[in-house]
Amino acid sequence: MLSSNAITAVARRALSVATPANSAIRTHKLPGNRNTLAKYGGQHTVTAMPGDGIGPEMIGHIKKIFKYCNAPINFEEVQMTSIYQDGDMEEVIYAIERNGVAIKGNIETKFDDPAFVSRNVELRRRLDLWANVLHCVTIPTVPTRHKDIDIVLIRENTEGEYSGLEHESIPGVVESIKIVTQEKIERIARFAYEYAVLNGRKKVTAVHKANIQKLGDGLFLQIAKDMAKEYPTVEFDQMIVDNASMQLVSRPQQFDVMLMPNLYGNIISNIACGLVGGPGLVSGMNFGDVHAVFETGTRNTGTGLVGKDIANPTAFIRAGVDMLRYVGCHKHADLISDALWEALTEQGVHTGDIGGSAKTSELVERTLRNIERMMPRLD
Ligand code: ADP
Ligand code: MG
Repeated sequence: MLSSNAITAVARRALSVATPANSAIRTHKLPGNRNTLAKYGGQHTVTAMPGDGIGPEMIGHIKKIFKYCNAPINFEEVQMTSIYQDGDMEEVIYAIERNGVAIKGNIETKFDDPAFVSRNVELRRRLDLWANVLHCVTIPTVPTRHKDIDIVLIRENTEGEYSGLEHESIPGVVESIKIVTQEKIERIARFAYEYAVLNGRKKVTAVHKANIQKLGDGLFLQIAKDMAKEYPTVEFDQMIVDNASMQLVSRPQQFDVMLMPNLYGNIISNIACGLVGGPGLVSGMNFGDVHAVFETGTRNTGTGLVGKDIANPTAFIRAGVDMLRYVGCHKHADLISDALWEALTEQGVHTGDIGGSAKTSELVERTLRNIERMMPRLD
């Protein structure tokens, strides 16, 4: 079992990523005892991996915004896509291990090819990025069915149904193996409770299917429940994943922090993103013991949007803001976050996915103009 002190340090580092939000678009503090490894003369070097689809365009927008507000970030760009290039994965892993921090676009997963293993999953596993964290919060002016959603989704990111162990034992019979381990459940549960404490969150809801998967999900539930006793200030709740799905779409305000194993976490996170406006809005963070990778919450590629200047850049820009907080550039993070927030809310610059007609570049431009006006704050 991970010592509680070790995890507290992990939690504190990541939690110090984000300052308490005074605008809802700001991400919260996150657990982590990681170094932002590559820092030279006040400049942070981060890895940028554009990936497939709209990733390259979006990374371009992030670079432009960062440059505009003089954020002390140098991007080291490495590329990996669904088209295998000799040694590309090794190069990306090396770059992330060296810099400690990365921002990435998603890599398309070909599901018509049984031999194609998700490169995103492989990357997460190789770097042992075990915690995935999303903050789903309603943004005023973005049309949604429900108001006042503020949920932090914490997902185990390396095991469970994502073990990649599948085989056809005899023709017509497939075994798909879900592996869960006490150690990995403990570290993600610890992360969730530490996150809750450090961010003043009131409740952690463990999501499971222990009524059917009695051993696997049973272990998850048992560990979450036992560990809750160490955190008396945080209320523990548990919910079966099917009910959690229904509760989410009918009364999402009841959730605070959700703690989930891998696959349920994937699905529940997508429901939550949908509730607050869709794939273009929410960022996602991945943490291991030493590395952090920032990306969009729903990990889409948006391939159909490429080159049209219509994708919502908000999710990627927020991933950039999360990254700035992680490396300790809070002023720059606040500046970009507030500038984007104002563009989306007060100025109502909405792309098509959230009911508007603005181009991607218009939202970026408006954000830059807001940054220009707010820039004196940096002095
Ligand atoms: P899939 O993951 O199935 O390949 P996509 O990656 O293209 O599909 O994304 C799923 C849906 O979300 C698509 O309808 C896509 O247009 C939409 N989408 C993804 N990213 C964005 C974005 N940044 N802005 C607006 N819509 C988006
Ligand atoms: Mg896609």
